[in-house]
Amino acid sequence: MHKSFGDLEVLRGIDLTLRPGSVTAILGPSGSGKSTLLRTINHLEPVGRGLISVDGEVIGYRRDGDLLHELPEREVLQQRTTIGMVFQAFNLFGHMTALQNVAEAPRRALGTPRRRAEARARELLELVGLAEKAGAYPRQLSGGQQQRVAIARALALDPTVLLFDEPTSALDPELVEEVLAVIRSLARAGTTLVIVTHEVSFARDVADTVVFMDHGVIVEQGPPAQVIDHPAQERTRTFLQRVR
Ligand code: ADP
Ligand code: MG
Repeated sequence: MHKSFGDLEVLRGIDLTLRPGSVTAILGPSGSGKSTLLRTINHLEPVGRGLISVDGEVIGYRRDGDLLHELPEREVLQQRTTIGMVFQAFNLFGHMTALQNVAEAPRRALGTPRRRAEARARELLELVGLAEKAGAYPRQLSGGQQQRVAIARALALDPTVLLFDEPTSALDPELVEEVLAVIRSLARAGTTLVIVTHEVSFARDVADTVVFMDHGVIVEQGPPAQVIDHPAQERTRTFLQRVR
């Protein structure tokens, strides 16, 4: 996949496969295109040149600037519900309780009846360790708790894959671990995850595949024992020395 903003080519030929149940950690310097990659996978940005396919179904395809196939808006929205995303800034609705935040998406996107959406939301809040905070508003929660609600909210649509864009970067250091613990438990449960993170030791623990990106390309990818512990590329080595 290629992706440009005006003259700036931000993704310069990304080739990435996510297998069901796999955990992929994406590392790379600021500005290397990590967020753009996630946003494109999630249809928050249109695909440039190239294609995305889910279970063999092509959902965005351009070649040499010619649009060959693009999903209608309604189907894009539908696709988006199968791909969950958790952002650095938690983006919860401030006027809704934790429970309402989690129940809202299935009600709106899938038309799930309120009772059922709320029952599922309670289960999900329990999963992220916040059962007792169901009635709390975002401002009454710590950053770590808000991010856990955001994770529960993303899970409410039963996504095929869950994308995390630096989920702990906005948190005070003492709150990072509670969020990483939730992500770790999702990984253990077999959820397909993609995590952009600067937490290198977390990436080593949790990921099956580590992808190192720089300037819009994948410089190297492989198991953590290879990419993190024995990087083949100079650029990867330099980056890892800097962030550790
Ligand atoms: P990362 O997440 O790795 O820090 P980003 O994907 O956010 O990188 O950004 C990659 C490059 O694309 C940066 O140079 C950034 O300024 C540029 N960029 C990102 N989004 C936009 C946009 N909507 N319009 C123009 N340029 C953008
Ligand atoms: Mg980013």
